[in-house]
Amino acid sequence: LSPVPSDIEISRAQTPKAVDVLAKEIGLLADEIEIYGQSKAKVRLSLLERLKDQADGKYVLVAGITPTPLGEGKSTVTIGLVQALTAHLHVNSFACLRQPSQGPTFGVKGGAAGGGYAQVIPMEEFNLHLTGDIHAITAANNLLAAAIDTRILHESTQTDKALFNRLVPLVNGVREFSDIQLHRLKKLGINKTDPSTLTEEEMTRFARLDIDPSTITWQRVLDTNDRFLRKITIGQSKTEKGFFRQAQFDIAVASEIMAVLALTDSLADMKIRLGRMVVASDKKGQPVTADDLGVTGALTVLMKDAIKPTLMQTLEGTPVFVHAGPFANIAHGNSSVLADKIALKLVGKEGFVVTEAGFGADIGMEKFFNIKCRASGLVPNVVVLVATVRALKMHGGGPSVTAGVPLKKEYTEENLQLVADGCCNLQKQIQIAQLFGVPVVVALNVFKSDTRAEIDLVCELAKQAGAFDAVPCQHWSIGGRGSVDLAHAVREAANQRSHFRFLYDVQLPIIEKIRTIAQKVYGAQDIELSPEAQSKIQLYTQQGFGNLPICMAKTHLSLSHESEKKGVPTGFILPINDVRASIGAGFIYPLVGTMSTMPGLPTRPCFYDIDLDTETEQVKGLF
Ligand code: ADP
Repeated sequence: LSPVPSDIEISRAQTPKAVDVLAKEIGLLADEIEIYGQSKAKVRLSLLERLKDQADGKYVLVAGITPTPLGEGKSTVTIGLVQALTAHLHVNSFACLRQPSQGPTFGVKGGAAGGGYAQVIPMEEFNLHLTGDIHAITAANNLLAAAIDTRILHESTQTDKALFNRLVPLVNGVREFSDIQLHRLKKLGINKTDPSTLTEEEMTRFARLDIDPSTITWQRVLDTNDRFLRKITIGQSKTEKGFFRQAQFDIAVASEIMAVLALTDSLADMKIRLGRMVVASDKKGQPVTADDLGVTGALTVLMKDAIKPTLMQTLEGTPVFVHAGPFANIAHGNSSVLADKIALKLVGKEGFVVTEAGFGADIGMEKFFNIKCRASGLVPNVVVLVATVRALKMHGGGPSVTAGVPLKKEYTEENLQLVADGCCNLQKQIQIAQLFGVPVVVALNVFKSDTRAEIDLVCELAKQAGAFDAVPCQHWSIGGRGSVDLAHAVREAANQRSHFRFLYDVQLPIIEKIRTIAQKVYGAQDIELSPEAQSKIQLYTQQGFGNLPICMAKTHLSLSHESEKKGVPTGFILPINDVRASIGAGFIYPLVGTMSTMPGLPTRPCFYDIDLDTETEQVKGLF
């Protein structure tokens, strides 16, 4: 239709096929799915065992140029491309997307199911609750948070002996260690299994974690943009005996458990990752983990269903996995390894899996390659780099673009000079993808104000910059058939040999890895570490975590650390203010500037428009 109706109107106008029908179409057996309602199902991991000898399909990553704050359509391109591949080229394909946080859904950005005629449906189910994975993460995260403070309180009020006796359960009148406790004993180098044989020194070492409260890095989380929880004081009731301290809430998708979910490849691996999450240091500077707190088993129980990807469909009835949605700044911003792995088996050797990395290619794609592909062992075949005329005009010196403010005339009228000047950002992002040895197809996501001359100019400059191909696409306004050229280009690029390589060796010192990303990817002259960052690097290296990959926490609105610097900034020194670690997920994350881990709400948040028709139970106002 023209004009294109709202996202929710389009979504509602299409009746999704029953999810069990979809599951059957893509080769799932009846006992491999767990159905939630009519249009969502979780897929069991046993499938991976059944299909282990099946060859993987082609693996395509959708990334983008440095975006405007409005987003340039990576999710929309991801959906448009699979719709074109499956419904129009008749090639099996799967889209793998992140589950959105409800914070932005009710806050500034709105939903993340794609847009126009390239969407996951029903979009309200995609954007709200889904199958409860984020709720499970919130529960697990906060159980661990409660375990930390409670343990500090109990250790302060009990003798070593009493503490030991309370911690080690009586089984038929005899004290016996649980499996998790036996694991802790092993870690402490105490090779005993009978509690009655421990010396007093061993008992103390086992029972006392001696957490230094000033080193606690584990925060409570909530999936709501509630800025008033950014700094809080906990433990103010008399019952906590003066154990109050400053703490904070983060948005749930910033929880390390979300990053663990995104990077794990089995239940057993998830349990190991959850157990090794470091929450603080003890008073001797040794790391304290979820295993030490005895909570790993309970966390795994809370996460046992969240580990299964959720199957949904596009507007054109093609399959989609929605799974995990780690914060794209302090975490790696990519959907799950498991969804990609399962989808690669399901599409077969000639099929395509299209997965999306958050933010611009300098962030989401770099982390996709260096963190996600390192964890999964999967080798990507093609990068699709999404560009828009409006973002290129911004990089060429156009006026600033702000959400909720109408675009200035530079963006609504033809301006070839701004486009040409802004293509430097596209060229740089193509070069970044080439550092990893993967062919790049540029997808120009066409908006209705773009002119033929502007579109041709972008495609020509992209090819000159080394893109394998560059094509305009119109899936937003006409669905999959608007991306058939893109699908052909991707198919051809996938037949090229991929010379995929990582950017750095994980064995390099932490500082060298950070410097490599800063110089080779962002174009920085060098890096500058604050004293805090230097001491953290020393601590993590001493604690044995020096050989993890790096997950940079940097603004996505510029290649540099300063969001107002557009185009391709040069000659800058990248400041590293602090360095933190997600040991369970398996990365070190340097903070470039300050990163908010709890978004706020604007004066007129999206929730003003969201309503329920109580007669029909239809959700209104989501976009
Ligand atoms: P990203 O994944 O890069 O953040 P999205 O795919 O979520 O971007 O798109 C951002 C917003 O822009 C969505 O609301 C989407 O509907 C809208 N959008 C995307 N492509 C177009 C287009 N070609 N024309 C108009 N609106 C678009």
